[in-house]
Amino acid sequence: MPNPSHTFSLEAVVLRHSDWGEADRILTLFTLQQGKTRALAKGVRKLRSRKAGHLQPFTRARLFLARSRDLPIITQAETAEAYLPLHDDLLRTAFALYVVELADRFTYENEDLPNLFHLLTDTLGRLATLPHDDLWLVSRWYEVRLLDILGFRPELFQCVSCGRELKPEDQFFSAQMGGALCPECGTEVTAVFPVSMPALRLLRHLQRSGWMEASRAPAAAELRPEVEGLLQYYLTYLLERGLNSPAFLRHVQRQGGTPA
Ligand SMILES: [Zn+2]
Repeated sequence: MPNPSHTFSLEAVVLRHSDWGEADRILTLFTLQQGKTRALAKGVRKLRSRKAGHLQPFTRARLFLARSRDLPIITQAETAEAYLPLHDDLLRTAFALYVVELADRFTYENEDLPNLFHLLTDTLGRLATLPHDDLWLVSRWYEVRLLDILGFRPELFQCVSCGRELKPEDQFFSAQMGGALCPECGTEVTAVFPVSMPALRLLRHLQRSGWMEASRAPAAAELRPEVEGLLQYYLTYLLERGLNSPAFLRHVQRQGGTPA
């Protein structure tokens, strides 16, 4: 039995796992208490492991761990929410992989980010339950909130170069400068992304709304590629290299998005 002073518990979402040794796995977790962290799950690749089902990617679980010299070892796991549709429906899987990858790529281990834990679990819940047509907006709202939580909130009301309030006309966006540029400043700066006024309005609405209010926004189908493209451009710039899962998600969407 481990010494009780060396045990602790975490509320966690499994971001990903990798095989370790003969039967073990190293899990990358996003936790309420410690942000992103890693732990060792012993014996979970054995056929009859009782822990294995609680430790699948996307699963929200309460974990009991024992400190060790290296990674903490998971001694017990209880599923809080399995989000089963995220495993059974390929389109939902692709969206879930994307939001999990963003949480993983944008964080370092052991940063205290309880708001991001709540955002992630709320988002996984929505991706598991809402109609397919809503998953696009769930993901965009998640991106905007994630940027907020991590201190990358883009400026969408004033020109980031001259500081003037933006007029209701088409604008530009600079990832490097972290926000929108008026037409005069936008034409003088290189590597800017044009953004139409309706797209900018939708982004502003997402930025200042809770989910209930955001979900009532009429996100016109023709605006979606522009808004998604702009957020992707900004997120990719911040990460300094491309994400893997958007390409997979686009592939699934092209196939119709129905489960195999
Ligand atoms: Zn300006």
